Amino acid sequence: MLSHEDAAAHVPSAVHHIPPDKVCGRAKDVIRRLQKAGYEAYLVGGCVRDLLLGITPKDFDIATSARPEEIRRLFNSCRLIGRRFRLAHIYYGRDYLEVATFRAPHDDSDAGGKVNDEGRITHDNVYGTLDEDVWRRDFTINALFYNPISGELLDFVGGLEDLRHGQIRLIGDPEMRFREDPVRLLRAVRFAAKLGFAIEEDTREPMTSLAILLEGVSSARLFDEIIKLLHSGDGLNTFRLLREYDMLQHLLPLTAESIEEDSSGNFERMVELSLGNTDQRLREGKSVMPGFLYAVLLWHKVNLAALALQTEGAPELQALNEAATDALRDQVDFTAVPRRFSNITREIWALQARFRYRDLRRASALVGNVRFRAAYDFLCLRAEAGEPVKEDAEWWTTFQFATQEEREVLCRDSADKKGGLRRRKKRKKSTGSSKAAPPPSAE
Ligand code: ATP
Ligand code: MG
Repeated sequence: MLSHEDAAAHVPSAVHHIPPDKVCGRAKDVIRRLQKAGYEAYLVGGCVRDLLLGITPKDFDIATSARPEEIRRLFNSCRLIGRRFRLAHIYYGRDYLEVATFRAPHDDSDAGGKVNDEGRITHDNVYGTLDEDVWRRDFTINALFYNPISGELLDFVGGLEDLRHGQIRLIGDPEMRFREDPVRLLRAVRFAAKLGFAIEEDTREPMTSLAILLEGVSSARLFDEIIKLLHSGDGLNTFRLLREYDMLQHLLPLTAESIEEDSSGNFERMVELSLGNTDQRLREGKSVMPGFLYAVLLWHKVNLAALALQTEGAPELQALNEAATDALRDQVDFTAVPRRFSNITREIWALQARFRYRDLRRASALVGNVRFRAAYDFLCLRAEAGEPVKEDAEWWTTFQFATQEEREVLCRDSADKKGGLRRRKKRKKSTGSSKAAPPPSAE
């Protein structure tokens, strides 16, 4: 193990070229204050990695030799959080900076650290030195420490070299490190997609066979990870990698099964189109909704189950609601779906049935529904993916932007078309003629 004092690990600013003005001023102030009080303090993790790559960091995380209680004593606006991993948050209004005390590696005999029978870390509160902290981090590119006061970068694990070569490499023995915390499997895929990096061979080798370990991770933690994986701007690429490494089936089994089952390819297209749109929205600074994401991911199962229930005689809306409850219950065994999101998912599904009613009263009410926009986007996505709802999607595109008079005409035309269709159907029944036009597939 390289020591903290190893000169080879100290990289001067003339070599690493981190632009000092890109470092958050508050983070710099916190580090200066900790150092003045006699502690070691550095920027660490994603922000150092991103600064070196010329990417604007999402947040600036700080690592220090000060204990959580010592940090609290230094900063008035400090709050300590977390049981599994104790951290200090220093508040500036509603924003905060995260400050973590250096951790040491540990086994189950340690006081503050715990590893379960499968080798998984359940608690990580054994404090240590900077040398020790480096080795318990996940990837080499995430284990770089930067002192913004001196301008010096510390690299004990070859992180700079891996950054230059575009490689994601786990520190230490890959299988052991993945077993310790299977979420690292998802993190490998997330960084590969985000940075366009390759996963280094030894790190990649055990990934597919260890993917099943994801089923042992708490569903609450996996929900957070799903959002980071699919709602961080590189969702489409990440999704493809999750499939490549056989992780999808342990994370979103209903989605994985649906893709296999649907020979038309419509569902796979729908998921890919939706993730592509989400990435685009994030690039444009627009909001995205986890409720919409789950509506897409579970749609195939819900739609099929609802159709089956309708065949057995259930009314359409009731069938959709029952199918929704079943699909969400099955998904929650794997990743949590907080009620505030799953309620939106249900509303989006339920409104799909209402797009068929085109009388003026109900159609106008639907456009005024708070969930209209999301449900309409969902309908367009279905149409674009190849489901037979194109005509519906076009009608609603016209209707929502039409004046009152135009709306009346649109609804009258729809009613006429429907009436004509009904009359033709009746005639067809009585004469046995085979020449009547087929009903539109959306009906
Ligand atoms: P992002 O840009 O997504 O925030 P990040 O690398 O900063 O990327 P965080 O989840 O914010 O990711 O974690 C901060 C740092 O903590 C990481 O860079 C890494 O050093 C360490 N870390 C986070 N999660 C793990 C883990 N599961 N195992 C080991 N180290 C981890
Ligand atoms: Mg981070």
